[in-house]
Amino acid sequence: MVFGEMPQSKLTELMAKRSITLTKYEPECNVTLYRDGTNTVLFDVGAGPDFMPASGKLSESLSAMGLSPEEVTHVIFTHAHPDHIWGVLDDFDDPLFPNAMHHFGRKEWDYWWNPSTVDSIGADLASFAVGAKRRMEVIEDRVELFDDGQDILPGIAARASYGHTPGHMTFELRNGSEPAMIVGDALGNPHVAFERPDWHSGTDQDPVAAAAARISLLDQIAHDHMKIIGFHLPNGGIGRVERSESNYRFIGEPS
Ligand SMILES: [Zn+2]
Repeated sequence: MVFGEMPQSKLTELMAKRSITLTKYEPECNVTLYRDGTNTVLFDVGAGPDFMPASGKLSESLSAMGLSPEEVTHVIFTHAHPDHIWGVLDDFDDPLFPNAMHHFGRKEWDYWWNPSTVDSIGADLASFAVGAKRRMEVIEDRVELFDDGQDILPGIAARASYGHTPGHMTFELRNGSEPAMIVGDALGNPHVAFERPDWHSGTDQDPVAAAAARISLLDQIAHDHMKIIGFHLPNGGIGRVERSESNYRFIGEPS
């Protein structure tokens, strides 16, 4: 799904160089928790128990940290694919985070809210559209929409990175000594997305726009020496970006 559209011989070469075999690729799913003393914020919520057997562990993970879903004040979404939004409801289909405001990029919300999306998205992704809309209907009265460039909370700014989905958003954290970029699925794997950000990925709904977003994000993250936090990146998703002559490299932080 991820690599199908890429030039296969060059891909094999790249993977061999990095000692990666492509027969099985199971990326991590990392939900980001951010606390500033006042707000307890989640970026995306994972898939919940209905999507993949190994996912849906967010409640357990929070409770291992001594946090209950009731204590979450804000949930901010990068996009509405199943592994990022389906976990927003509990086993009874009620909102899992009853006291939280839920924040969506306006363009992303409008796309999945539109009843014709299920017909235009293609058969392969139709279940994504149905699943997103059903959950959005339940949380509709606790949703706030934001636009590109907007400060959602103090120190958290939204940045458009359209392509993986039509309204995919990333977030700049500038509230402390070290700036960070939460990239969601704009950088969806730790190897090809960094070494060949220009290659089109089969998981991006608009591969051309997604490649442009990746290149622009990598340029800024490397230039500003930002931390990077990626939903499907290894080491808990946290690391740095190193620029070499013609490409980039993900350097995971020791966890
Ligand atoms: Zn994802």
